[in-house]
Amino acid sequence: MPKCKFYRECQSQAVTQMQHTNMPLCKTHFLRYMESRVMKTIETYKLINFQDPDEKVLVAVSGGKDSQTLLTILHQVLKNKVPMEALYIEIGISPDSYSHDSEKVAKQLCDDLGVPFHVLNVHDRVGYDMDKIHQLGKILTRGKSRSKNKRFRGECSYCGLFKRYYINFFAIHNGFTKVATGHNLTDEATQLLSNFFSVDTELMSRAGPSTSRGVEGLVDRIKPLFYIYETELILYSYYGNVPHLPTECAYAGDSPMIRVKRSLEKVESFRRGTMMNMVRDFQKQLRPILSKTIPEEKQAVNKCKKCGMTTYLEVCSFCRTENRLREDLQKYHIIEES
Ligand code: SF4
Ligand SMILES: [Zn+2]
Ligand SMILES: [Zn+2]
Repeated sequence: MPKCKFYRECQSQAVTQMQHTNMPLCKTHFLRYMESRVMKTIETYKLINFQDPDEKVLVAVSGGKDSQTLLTILHQVLKNKVPMEALYIEIGISPDSYSHDSEKVAKQLCDDLGVPFHVLNVHDRVGYDMDKIHQLGKILTRGKSRSKNKRFRGECSYCGLFKRYYINFFAIHNGFTKVATGHNLTDEATQLLSNFFSVDTELMSRAGPSTSRGVEGLVDRIKPLFYIYETELILYSYYGNVPHLPTECAYAGDSPMIRVKRSLEKVESFRRGTMMNMVRDFQKQLRPILSKTIPEEKQAVNKCKKCGMTTYLEVCSFCRTENRLREDLQKYHIIEES
């Protein structure tokens, strides 16, 4: 490894070279550089309004490296400039004690940093959890290809929907103005390419460091790690001693999305900076054009007839999905009829 770019100051050898610029950095300068890039994203896209006395950030933590690193970096760069708390959604994944251990490691970091930690238990709300949904999936997809099964969309799809809904629900009911999530550049590039493959211009137009739409009842979701590669997060968690759960969720599977991600990583390995250029240039050049193409009626906002939460539909997608799942779970005697 060459010398650190700031060798005169630190007299250290580099431990890594930046993915998109090749800049060599020692451990200390790497950690500081990552933090400064996250702060730059926050400032450039005005993700947090430091002038607003009501601004209050909820960090969605899962115990994984992304959200644990996000919490650590935000704690470092925000330095109490804005109130920050953390929420863990207990979704009920029991193989390898996954949910139990995830909660423990997330709580440990919050305690170490002095960040208030909250838990919302999905089973307490709906009467079932991911283990039950997984059981249902096994029945509904028996002998069939998962990707072609219309009745079961895969564990991650339900898990994501439940988490998004309850994070927003908790934030709304507890006065948070922003929800920060650990989505990183690799996630964003993968999503963008995947949406491009299906020519989903509406989803593409929504991709950005903030989902801010100024809609009452939908708390703005912000992604401070938007321009940080997943590989850089792994290094940050290693050099910064960020505690996180090293094991993978047993329901992760080999989704099409993961295959797109692997392909992109291959391209990145011989064309350094591909993901960065793709996401950054999309944000600057294409997204403003695509945003203008969304029809007005898709932007109309309602209150869900079932749960009262804000939605673009009559009944929100959470309630529709939850209802369908409940019917199937009862039909196959995985849960009792209520
Ligand atoms: S891998 Fe899928 S099911 Fe497991 S925690 Fe992540 S989103 Fe949920
Ligand atoms: Zn250095
Ligand atoms: Zn609803």
